Amino acid sequence: MSLWWEKSGLRFECAACGRCCGGEPGTVTVTEAERAAISAELNISIDTFEDTYMVRKDGVMTLREEENYDCIFIERNSKRCGIYRVRPLQCRLFPFWPSVLKNKDAWDFYAALCPGMNKGKLYPPELLKKFLELPSARRL
Ligand code: SF4
Repeated sequence: MSLWWEKSGLRFECAACGRCCGGEPGTVTVTEAERAAISAELNISIDTFEDTYMVRKDGVMTLREEENYDCIFIERNSKRCGIYRVRPLQCRLFPFWPSVLKNKDAWDFYAALCPGMNKGKLYPPELLKKFLELPSARRL
């Protein structure tokens, strides 16, 4: 399968606008290891973390959202992530999710929303291929 970025790579540099962290309904899955890391960061038990910050939606456990669909961990005014240091892989890897890297329409769709895409730092094809091969990213 040939992908549109295989020769040129892709540019991305987060502008920290917080748009990808809310504004519309979404799902953020959190692995067991990530739940443990976030709980430790917040100094609470994993059970308390799940009860307080997660909810079951469409059959999967996801981070809760505010009424305006912002992620529960986004600080409203600064738009900064309250668990940035231990944020889940899904957040860490955006926009280089396999579902986006394999689909130019998906890339273009997100690029219309994300001011960081198609500019800034160049991610070479070799690195993008590594993202695609990450076993833990296959669900994204
Ligand atoms: S929408 Fe793009 S630029 Fe804005 S915070 Fe998310 S990744 Fe960064």
